[in-house]
Amino acid sequence: MNNKLYGKLIFELSHPGRRAYSLPKNRFGHYELSEDMRRSEDAMLPECDEMTVVRHYTNHSENNFGVDNGFYPLGSCTMKYNPTINEEIAALPSFCNLHPLQPEETVQGALEVEYRLQQALASLTGMSDFTLNPCAGAHGELTGLMIIRSYHESRGDMKRTKVIVPDSAHGTNPASAAVCGCEVIEVTSTADGLVDLDNLKELIKENGPEIAAMMMTNPNTLGLFERQIPEISRVVHECGGLMYYDGANLNPMLGAVRPADMGFDVMHVNLHKTFSTPHGGGGPGDGPVGVIKGLEEFLPKPHVVYHSDTSTYSILHNPAEEAGDYNLEANYIGAFLGNFLVIIRALAYILSLGREHIKMVGPLATLNANYIKESLKDDYELPIEGLCKHEFVFDGLRDKSTGVTTMDVAKRLLDYGYHAPTIYFPLLFHEAMMIEPTENESKDTIDRFIDVMHIISKEAMEKPELVKNAPHNTPIGRVDDVLAARHPIVTYRQLMAES
Ligand SMILES: *Cc1c(COP(=O)(O)O)cnc(C)c1O
Repeated sequence: MNNKLYGKLIFELSHPGRRAYSLPKNRFGHYELSEDMRRSEDAMLPECDEMTVVRHYTNHSENNFGVDNGFYPLGSCTMKYNPTINEEIAALPSFCNLHPLQPEETVQGALEVEYRLQQALASLTGMSDFTLNPCAGAHGELTGLMIIRSYHESRGDMKRTKVIVPDSAHGTNPASAAVCGCEVIEVTSTADGLVDLDNLKELIKENGPEIAAMMMTNPNTLGLFERQIPEISRVVHECGGLMYYDGANLNPMLGAVRPADMGFDVMHVNLHKTFSTPHGGGGPGDGPVGVIKGLEEFLPKPHVVYHSDTSTYSILHNPAEEAGDYNLEANYIGAFLGNFLVIIRALAYILSLGREHIKMVGPLATLNANYIKESLKDDYELPIEGLCKHEFVFDGLRDKSTGVTTMDVAKRLLDYGYHAPTIYFPLLFHEAMMIEPTENESKDTIDRFIDVMHIISKEAMEKPELVKNAPHNTPIGRVDDVLAARHPIVTYRQLMAES
């Protein structure tokens, strides 16, 4: 796997008793851990010298692919540039060395960061207030739906348990609704990829008094702006439901349209997509949730507030916590005040762009996506013509006779040094290939990507086997995805047991 270490795993290089560290002599005496806190047997850890450990980690980092070493057009994920200055600010010792249980008067600066981000997000989205507590987009969806449920219950309306979700939605939308105990009703899309208003009206006619909310993202997962959004919001509100905005696709809307003006009542944003926190590989992220005026009381606590009379910040705690009940599961949506270093990066990003430049994000992301789409649509099948926003979806190669699939194209792109686009999502097309370039890429980078996509299309016609057997230049060739998902081997102990 790791060629520079003689093709061996770190476990295979292990020698009993070999050390990569030396500790100073223990001057503090011996402390005996109680039996119930001790392992029953030693952990199985590799024992190697220091150089081998350093090479092990460095080689791993070089096998990784990130925005900082290549173009990463992974649709729906907004793999944009994370300016290095954000990292420097987030790494300041005065931020990193704080403890969440420190007295408020000693963390006024940190609370100001939280408060200012709440305010900045409110101003960018038209919401009234935000909580920064949820730690991911899906976590935000769940929080938002719980807010909506609390709102309905506070009015004594207990029957609203159904949530409308478009068939093009991101998988987390129906999943979050189900986790919140709601029933999901799917609204279909029209041939041009937008919510079918007639179908929506029928669903509302059948289920009106039971509808808690409709969840939508706009632009939707096909990168298309839902032009009927005012009418959609109107009919959902008319039946007593609320509009939930999945703000993971906020990037092209920054400074152009505010979700509140489209009729949305509750929403989340992904700080790790739109607001420049590195992501991929599972976190850490943050999924702040905003609500319009009138719903603020349903935001979870703890929550940072500002007192203009004394120019100080404080934390509103929830009543159970104030009574001394620190039961995390029952009383919080997330411990403390969200992923603080992610929050710092988001605020640094917003402030460094400023009011004027943040408005450029959406138009540039949109321009880049449309340029790629128009340049490649003779080679790749474009199921829905017309302008897109930040991303678009091809339905595989135009020439289907070669047998080369979207999976093959994605694998071949790795050979040319690109991260693959999102594939086989959304589920509306069989060979979906979802491309999102983001606003940061130069025309040169994008032109080179377009050239490579042309080359692969030509290869598919002339040498299809070359594409079908790709990748050829990566440390590992094609893996058995199904086996890897159904029967993952993730520890050396497991590997030993299997072989
Ligand atoms: C990424 C994404 C989500 C989920 O966000 P996570 O932080 O991965 O939980 C939800 N909806 C859309 C449209 C997304 O792209």
